Amino acid sequence: MTENCIFCKIVRGEIPSRRVYEDDDLIVFHDIHPAAPVHLLMVPREHFANLDAAEPRHERLLGKMQLLAPRLAREQGATNGYRVVTNNGPDGGQEVYHLHVHVLGGPRPWKRL
Ligand code: AMP
Ligand code: ZN
Repeated sequence: MTENCIFCKIVRGEIPSRRVYEDDDLIVFHDIHPAAPVHLLMVPREHFANLDAAEPRHERLLGKMQLLAPRLAREQGATNGYRVVTNNGPDGGQEVYHLHVHVLGGPRPWKRL
């Protein structure tokens, strides 16, 4: 499962990314197809598909990402608001099945979302 996961490969450094933050739990990098002037992806180092697969032990990690979003949005220049989004499943528009949190911001209009 994790061998072919693109975000696991990015976590392992096998695929390049423009990282802006990392710690023991997660990495954050620029989305390759930005939908807004600032578009970051917060990706746990641990592979799990989405919120459906999240367990009680992930509570701290999920909260950490929510609390990190405003800081990274501001550092990247989204000073007038931002959006924090997790897509889940086909109708949720999820493309990569390794849980991640989008942080979108910067002056509108945005391309999508
Ligand atoms: P989602 O639709 O929520 O699964 O979002 C997946 C996101 O990953 C999309 O916004 C893609 O543009 C982004 N993405 C896919 N491959 C890469 C990559 N190699 N580096 C950075 N972002 C990527
Ligand atoms: Zn993965």
